[in-house]
Amino acid sequence: MQANIRQVASLFSKLNINTIHRSAAVLQCRAYSTTHDADLVVIGGGPGGYVAAIKGAQVGLNTVCIEKNDTLGGTCLNVGCIPSKALLNNSHYYHMAHSGDLNNRGITVGNVSLDLEKMMGQKSNAVKSLTGGIAQLFKKNKVTHLNGWGQITGPNQVQAKMKDGSVETVNTKYMIIASGSEVTPFPGVTIDEEVIVSSTGALSLKQVPKKMVVIGAGVIGLELGSVWSRLGAEVIAVEFLNSIGGVGIDGEVSKTFQKVLTKQGMQFRLGTKVTGAQRTGNGAVVSVESVKDGSKEDIECDVLLVCIGRRPFTEGLGLENVGIATDDRGRIPVNAMLQTIVPNIHAIGDVIHGPMLAHKAEDEGIICVEGIMGGHVHLDYNCVPSVVYTHPEVAWVGKSEEDLKKEGVEYKVGKFPYMANSRAKTNNETDGFVKVLADKATDRILGTHMIGPGVGELINEAVLAMEYGASAEDVARVCHAHPTCAEALREANLAAYIGKPINF
Ligand SMILES: Cc1cc2nc3c(=O)[nH]c(=O)nc-3n(C[C@H](O)[C@H](O)[C@H](O)COP(=O)(O)OP(=O)(O)OC[C@H]3O[C@@H](n4cnc5c(N)ncnc54)[C@H](O)[C@@H]3O)c2cc1C
Repeated sequence: MQANIRQVASLFSKLNINTIHRSAAVLQCRAYSTTHDADLVVIGGGPGGYVAAIKGAQVGLNTVCIEKNDTLGGTCLNVGCIPSKALLNNSHYYHMAHSGDLNNRGITVGNVSLDLEKMMGQKSNAVKSLTGGIAQLFKKNKVTHLNGWGQITGPNQVQAKMKDGSVETVNTKYMIIASGSEVTPFPGVTIDEEVIVSSTGALSLKQVPKKMVVIGAGVIGLELGSVWSRLGAEVIAVEFLNSIGGVGIDGEVSKTFQKVLTKQGMQFRLGTKVTGAQRTGNGAVVSVESVKDGSKEDIECDVLLVCIGRRPFTEGLGLENVGIATDDRGRIPVNAMLQTIVPNIHAIGDVIHGPMLAHKAEDEGIICVEGIMGGHVHLDYNCVPSVVYTHPEVAWVGKSEEDLKKEGVEYKVGKFPYMANSRAKTNNETDGFVKVLADKATDRILGTHMIGPGVGELINEAVLAMEYGASAEDVARVCHAHPTCAEALREANLAAYIGKPINF
């Protein structure tokens, strides 16, 4: 048998086949263990892991990526960023047609109806093509992909437990843990992904619920609540805090955001804690209590979406085999080089500190590999943008006014409303504003906060400015195409720099 495995392996290498798990021949041989040698093993094929693996292969490291799920792409591509954005986009089109928005623009549409199955099909096609795209990129870059559960068995060894029960042992110089995160459960509430759902279940509901309660008005709760609200559900978001949008959002933006979503039909119970929830036949009942006065209420709904956050995932990873302990929030501690206490074992993405965002995980994947190759490892976490992909979108980078007040930094504010932006007016999408916070003495931009049309794209200009240490004057002096919504960013910078915008 061992001879057969070697023959198959040699044939594969002649044929340049890297994706070992897909071969029926190898599946047959896999009753036994096999051993590989590698320079780099990446555990996890999400945005952190797959990007690190491709980068590793591109800089000449013999790289293996172990992913336990059948498809690559992790949370982001399979049950996160991508499917949620597909539903947000298409539910927005439906809402435009259904709510009379298109009619108001002179586009008369007949009976608008929803084919939810088809909408879900478009979402699945996007996911399939993107996850398949990563498999192709692995082939192109010669990354070896093992479809199994990775367990660290020593500082230089990982075992992949394959689905057929066989074990692939990989001896390696370096390791990158990119095992990501999982849904944080709500104590005492059992998720069945039908009536009481996590974000994963909420991406695949079979019908539009009449009434949906969302526990948590953070980014994911608002995005998914927005989807189902646009598709016709009555949506109530219950939030312990007195504001929506989660960590980091500027207070003023959060207030406007809540007003806009309320206008669209979403309801909010802020300053309210959920004390329990139970399934009742085809629906659920959620018990809530006001934080302020302790008054209690039971809310019935068809679907309960539990969206209180995500927690690092390290189950079955074998951290104990190399003496790595997680911190009080379950994260793997790393130093500035993204090294764990075992210097050749690194960790990136949702499983370490910092915002749980795909682009942060990707950037860490790249700089981690550069660090392994002797390069400089630097990521300015203050320049990692956040976006909420509702309509209008909300986006920010850097410090909020609340942060600056807490830190005692003297700052000036430049604001520009979309109501005064010619493109936004032309498009009849005037909700929102851009707010720039700049250092009072030096004019250096400290933060940019936006709510308005397409700001999920526009925020990248603000990130670029901050990365290059721009002042508000720098951005105000850059020629911006007209008419564009981006002119609102220029005007807000002008307002921060000189005190007055031109067009407002
Ligand atoms: C509904 C939703 C919407 C989101 N929208 C956005 C968004 O718009 N923008 C954004 O930036 N972020 C968004 N996120 C967050 C984003 O998905 C995560 O921040 C990102 O996926 C983290 O990447 P990662 O590589 O660290 O981990 P993950 O994507 O979680 O990938 C980890 C991978 O490791 C695998 N794995 C774990 N343990 C093992 C093991 N022992 N062996 C083998 N494989 C293992 C897992 O199967 C998984 O595939 C969203 C998340 C959700 C849930």
